Amino acid sequence: MNDFVADLVKRVKPSATIAVSMKAAELKRAGKDVIGLGAGEPDFDTPDHIKAAAIEAIQQGKTKYTAVDGTPELKQAIVGKLLRENHVSYQANEIIVSCGAKHSISNLFNAVINPGDEVIIPTPYWVSYPDMTLLAGGKSVIVETSIDHDFKLTAAQLEQAITQKTRLVMLNSPSNPTGKAYTAAELKALGEVILAHPQVLVATDDIYEHIYWGQEPLANIVALLPELRERAIIINGVSKAYAMTGWRIGYAAGPEAIIAAMRKIQSQSTSNPCSISQAAATAALNGPQDCLTTMKTAFKQRHDYLVEALNELPGFTCTAGNGAFYAFPDVTAVIEQLDGVEDDVQLATWLLENAGVAVVPGTPFGAAGYVRLSFATSIETLQQAVKRIETALKPYF
Ligand code: PMP
Ligand code: GLU
Repeated sequence: MNDFVADLVKRVKPSATIAVSMKAAELKRAGKDVIGLGAGEPDFDTPDHIKAAAIEAIQQGKTKYTAVDGTPELKQAIVGKLLRENHVSYQANEIIVSCGAKHSISNLFNAVINPGDEVIIPTPYWVSYPDMTLLAGGKSVIVETSIDHDFKLTAAQLEQAITQKTRLVMLNSPSNPTGKAYTAAELKALGEVILAHPQVLVATDDIYEHIYWGQEPLANIVALLPELRERAIIINGVSKAYAMTGWRIGYAAGPEAIIAAMRKIQSQSTSNPCSISQAAATAALNGPQDCLTTMKTAFKQRHDYLVEALNELPGFTCTAGNGAFYAFPDVTAVIEQLDGVEDDVQLATWLLENAGVAVVPGTPFGAAGYVRLSFATSIETLQQAVKRIETALKPYF
């Protein structure tokens, strides 16, 4: 039979986070008793006032195509949000709304990467950045960070990684999967390195900005270094903050020419994001914001519980994060102890089969020897998962 799949696509890996979530869901459907800690999505329901805005949009007939890059109302809400929360000033023509932040990032990569251009991606990274780079024709330059620096890229590492081919530096703070966030001083140091290299853009993936409990306010690189504005693209969305993963609304703010290029790509691919979801996202950004605090408080409690409980498990070493909803323990000591388990990928399978707990291995995040557990689920579920892992590991320690 002919093989019609394009060579480039054959080199792309499917998303590991999605694969684990799908596998857990499939096992559950088949009647297996599985606790899924794979999915990176809030377990909360979308707040009622946001749902009401969507229902109203349907009733008012807002069911047609919108402008490719988003409704004027939503773009204005984003302009307002960026000013209010991030202290950065953008005009509507510097904003594009897409089908999730993931789509915004994909549009960005396709808009700015020429064949062979390099994208600097610090480890551990969100699983999709390298494969999106590949799909856009670029080359990932993976920079290993160290746990001693809280898994954060240092200015010296960045300086060393930049070449004449560097097009983009990808930052994500708070980070999926580590939960660590850059301080203002760290971001400023990185921004200053980027400023010294005029061929380099920076993208900051701020999707977890509202799930943050660090000591100092979360810093934004454009607010810190306004000179960088012409070379920075802010990526954000409503999925995580407002428990709206299924609505698929994300956005980017950046220099007009880059946003226009992204709009052109979108006009020839997906067109506008769902009109009803856009009305809901407008209500999310313009409406009451107390839901953010409620959810953040719950995530912090779960974080504190899970990090402590994991550290009590044999072979697990987990540092505290200051945001997002993932624990990312070092499990090399578990791997060493289990016969027939050679790495984190095999350990994740072992945990699924022997403890009935789905976690994502560290390797697809560029961090072998780790696993990611999502705590976007109730404390009771987390307690059950920890108990199961403990019971499964007991005979080996
Ligand atoms: N960036 C990071 C770091 C993420 O974890 C996610 C989660 N899917 C996204 C972007 C994309 O979010 P969405 O497409 O749901 O807006
Ligand atoms: N970002 C989430 C995660 O890391 C959702 C899945 C995905 O889009 O990768 O689990």
